[in-house]
Amino acid sequence: MKHAVAAEHTPGSGCYKNKAMLFSIILAGIKVYINPYLPCSWQNKMTERRVIKTIQDAYLNVPFYKQKYDGAGVDMSLVHRIDDLKLLPVLTKEEIRRNYPGNLVRRGADIEKCHKSATSGSSGQPLSFLISLSGYAYYLAESARIYSMIGYRPWHRSCYLRYAPLTLPELSASRQTFISSLSPVAEQIARLRQSKPDLIDAYSSTMLDIARHVTIEDLQYIKPRVITVNSEMSTRDEREYISGVFHCPVFDEYSTEETWGIAAECYKHNYHIFTDSVWVEFLDSQGKDAKPGELGDIVITTTRSSVMPFIRYAIGDRGKPSNRTCQCGYKMPLMESIEGRTDDWLVLPSGRLFEPSKVLCIVGKAIQQNPLLFEEYKIIQKKQDLIVLQYIRGRDFDTNLLNEIIAGISTLFDEPVVVLTEEVQPSRGIKRQALESRVRRNDNL
Ligand SMILES: [Zn+2]
Repeated sequence: MKHAVAAEHTPGSGCYKNKAMLFSIILAGIKVYINPYLPCSWQNKMTERRVIKTIQDAYLNVPFYKQKYDGAGVDMSLVHRIDDLKLLPVLTKEEIRRNYPGNLVRRGADIEKCHKSATSGSSGQPLSFLISLSGYAYYLAESARIYSMIGYRPWHRSCYLRYAPLTLPELSASRQTFISSLSPVAEQIARLRQSKPDLIDAYSSTMLDIARHVTIEDLQYIKPRVITVNSEMSTRDEREYISGVFHCPVFDEYSTEETWGIAAECYKHNYHIFTDSVWVEFLDSQGKDAKPGELGDIVITTTRSSVMPFIRYAIGDRGKPSNRTCQCGYKMPLMESIEGRTDDWLVLPSGRLFEPSKVLCIVGKAIQQNPLLFEEYKIIQKKQDLIVLQYIRGRDFDTNLLNEIIAGISTLFDEPVVVLTEEVQPSRGIKRQALESRVRRNDNL
């Protein structure tokens, strides 16, 4: 997963720091709290209306979409229903890079009044984009909904462990502490001890690192009621490990910088899709809808920011749709799981794609047994038949356990794949992403 990538917020002229912005958030807040409880049929109808309106507006007012759809020979008069989306070609990251801002921004939009953001681009190619202020207000309200879904209340203290702090209006009564995820783990733990948060919101790798280093004495001070992890893929085992250390539930959230919240786990641990701001398709290799429980490429249409809408955006993640319902009270549809960035999937010698989560589970289980086995680690697929586990020794490093991990990973594949280890000196450090495939693949993978 999760995948979302790290980003930097570059706020537009500070104009959200005013009462109007706060008013927008309050208004959006009412909508985001009511919407999930409306009957499914209402939600579906409203979602369809927003999606079609977004497409029609983009065709008329965003030059890029007019050129793209006309160029593809799309008859826009046939686009009336959600199923008609299949008539439209998908939007790629490369198209965004080539056309931003110019053709991709709605005609007449005041860029200085927008929220500007960018992904760091884990592939080395950053992506910039704009969000309208009303869209940004909606996304902030939606973030608050994610917290409330898992038990956060306005009087609770929260802690936000990320690269960059959230940009909130000055008048909001946020009780949020920001801790840089780039600071040393000892410093993060010291700040957590000071701030005593009820809720911790962090990248999953940051939270895992903290869980592996906290002492029993630290846990006398750090007693969160709930933890939410996001922006990277995390396995259920990893979340259970964090949960065991902090004695509180850990929930996963699927969001990206471009689209913000896409889905989040409710207290029943089911992923609800936020259809009030995004429409999510799961596509099979033929470009048709994947069946419930089947893996598909995730394609997203945003409906809350007309200044630069993402229409059928191939975000580069994979996941499984669901036709189940949830008993938590939310009527928003479910998705089964998120299986990580397409780029992170291993490509085996036969060309078959292999889920990164299965590899990470092997390492995760070893770390459950011995939390200080590694100071840091990373799995890199260097060639189709070569995987390397890079690591920096932890305080309780154990060669036997390392060998068990290697043997465990090796037995996952029924194809000839060599798994090697490479010890890295602490001074070099290892990039945060836990698994990376450097195998080049076809665009359609
Ligand atoms: Zn639920």
